[in-house]
Amino acid sequence: DRGEFVKFEGIIVKRYSGFYYILSDDKNIWECSLRGRFRLKKQTFFPGDNVVCTKIDEDNKKAVIEEVLPRFSELERPLIANVDQVVIVLALSNILTDLQLLDRIMIMAQYNKVKPIICFNKVDIIDYDTALSFEKVYKKTNFPVFLTSALKDWGIEDLKQIMKDKISVFAGPSGVGKSSLFNALEKGLSLETGEVSKKLNRGKHTTRHTELLPLSEGGLLADTPGFSKLDLPQELKKERLIDYYPDFWEHGKSCSFCTCLHRNELECGVRKAAESGILDEGRYNRYLHFLEEVITNERRY
Ligand code: GDP
Ligand code: ZN
Repeated sequence: DRGEFVKFEGIIVKRYSGFYYILSDDKNIWECSLRGRFRLKKQTFFPGDNVVCTKIDEDNKKAVIEEVLPRFSELERPLIANVDQVVIVLALSNILTDLQLLDRIMIMAQYNKVKPIICFNKVDIIDYDTALSFEKVYKKTNFPVFLTSALKDWGIEDLKQIMKDKISVFAGPSGVGKSSLFNALEKGLSLETGEVSKKLNRGKHTTRHTELLPLSEGGLLADTPGFSKLDLPQELKKERLIDYYPDFWEHGKSCSFCTCLHRNELECGVRKAAESGILDEGRYNRYLHFLEEVITNERRY
């Protein structure tokens, strides 16, 4: 039967004891080994990589990986290729301390070619007007903003829709409801959180491979939260920080200098917008904070 040698494309979802598990377009999971030559070439294979395989055993779903297709992005922690988006979860209950982290992850995500999706969770326990005001500030970035309650199942359908056919990771501080959202999205899935890691006593150096979990409505979700490494990229230039602030762009058009850092320059459109309240003051102040961080980095390296 010549069908045995049929090639197919799929995505690596997991690596486990020497095998790679590949999700094919027809939603089967194949257990694959690598052709020997890959080991020699020291090519890397991550969850999220698109690969071409040859079927070895159709009945038992065994195959061999022939080729890894070009990777368009690579996330370091967790190590996943081709991540489309990061769902940054914050709990509105302790919002003030976390907005700095939100903005930081938004910069890092865009720098890594990953689209930020903002998710304000626990809206059941806070004043709804407060939630709406945060939604308004962040909608100006044009990135999607969701108000959810994992507890009450609010906004979960919208999250499912945005995860369809994409590779997503969660991010955000612990206790904001990432695992709860995971469970609300899909019963039976479980997210590896800081707490779980602690319980299992997994140290920093223990190898644990991230797994991409297929969602029933389509899409893959990483079982490990991302963006835990929070230093801004060393290569980031101070003039380029605004690239990661889409909500600042229209105001930046009226800056006098093209090298404007939007700090204390004369005729800076961004600062003026913040001073007059058109641009959220908190978000602008956090920008200034990150600008200092980038400048310090530039001096150091
Ligand atoms: P994680 O550390 O980000 O994974 O957060 P968890 O999912 O473990 O949630 C931390 C705590 O917040 C738990 O006690 C949850 O029951 C609670 N929690 C999660 N989501 C919500 C929510 O939408 N509303 C409320 N009121 N509590 C929530
Ligand atoms: Zn400016």
